Amino acid sequence: MLKRYLLAPGPTPVPAEALLAMAMPIIHHRSPDFLPVLDAAKKGLQWLYQTKNDVLILCSSGTGGMVGSVNNFFSPGDKALIINAGNFGERWTKICKAYGLDVKEIKIEWGYTVRPEEVEKALKADSSIKGVFVQASETSTGVYHDIESIASIVRKYSGTILIVDAISALVAHDLKMDDWGIDVLIGGSQKGLMLPPGLAFVGISDKAWKFAESAKCPHFYFNFKKERESLAKNQTNFTSPVTLIIGLNECLKLLQKEGLENAFARHRRLANATREAVKALNLEMFTKESPSNAVTAIKAPGGLDGQEIYKNLRVNYGITAAGGQGQAKGKIFRIAHLGYADTFDIITAIAGVEMVLKSMGYPVKLGSGVAVAEELLII
Ligand SMILES: *Cc1c(COP(=O)(O)O)cnc(C)c1O
Repeated sequence: MLKRYLLAPGPTPVPAEALLAMAMPIIHHRSPDFLPVLDAAKKGLQWLYQTKNDVLILCSSGTGGMVGSVNNFFSPGDKALIINAGNFGERWTKICKAYGLDVKEIKIEWGYTVRPEEVEKALKADSSIKGVFVQASETSTGVYHDIESIASIVRKYSGTILIVDAISALVAHDLKMDDWGIDVLIGGSQKGLMLPPGLAFVGISDKAWKFAESAKCPHFYFNFKKERESLAKNQTNFTSPVTLIIGLNECLKLLQKEGLENAFARHRRLANATREAVKALNLEMFTKESPSNAVTAIKAPGGLDGQEIYKNLRVNYGITAAGGQGQAKGKIFRIAHLGYADTFDIITAIAGVEMVLKSMGYPVKLGSGVAVAEELLII
């Protein structure tokens, strides 16, 4: 038998409280049973998003939330500025192009973060740009983009909205939707929210709702205006993913019990211990600046294949971390500290990395990374 440990940047482990609640018999989404369930989810998400506005709940993976955030707010030919710093930035470009938007990219070398001044420069040069698209945490490179600064720039332009893919950042990073002026904030269930895959969340500002009035991209399944009308009645347009929403309420309760600030602090602490342990092992971070608190991206050392490290961890030790994506595939491996994660997830991950690297012939002093992580995680 191999005991399994899930340390990937999605899906992430699901707490027992949510698993048990989701094991209950199915309720009907149009029956009175469901109304208080959706009402609680709605309020809990507003708390998590730090917003007074509605947060839509969609039955899809996170990418569905990204797609809806393009085709509900824009028209073919609209200008989109994409911060492309990795695999998920690239996805923004692909989605915008699929709907006929006129895409301009700020391309960032993988491992680096965008300079907010570059966004300012681009908007100054062309004020007809209608949307700025960015990731909060670019999961493929482990970088966090400075959303607060970017938002402070975009909010000065009345004809431009900021769309933030926070699918891996939510819960790991403080994202003050209303205070900072984020217009569209997208989350997903299987990351910081500690749920199985299948839900996307979209918070929407008043400014963005005005864009929805004139948007002409075709859409049907993700119709945000209709979803908002349904949400007001504690319903969703189509059959609600009742099981996942019941689980969502359990996870939101756990987070409310912990407190938002404490959840952010936990992610910061785990991420910091992971990074310091990695350095103690003489490994190089793939992330060159502004590391995310959701995931740590590490260069595969000594000519080793990052995918082999990932595979070795999984096959021999039961640890499912992550390899690389796109151009980083083979060059890196990644360890998540996201969602239902705590001290001994980090100890497990670092110990696993030490053992795998040693078995693959890379010189590590066993325990040297673990010792550093332990020091940093003692309470
Ligand atoms: C996981 C992830 C997505 C995609 O989510 P899916 O649920 O696979 O559709 C998008 N953006 C970021 C930053 C992610 O980490």
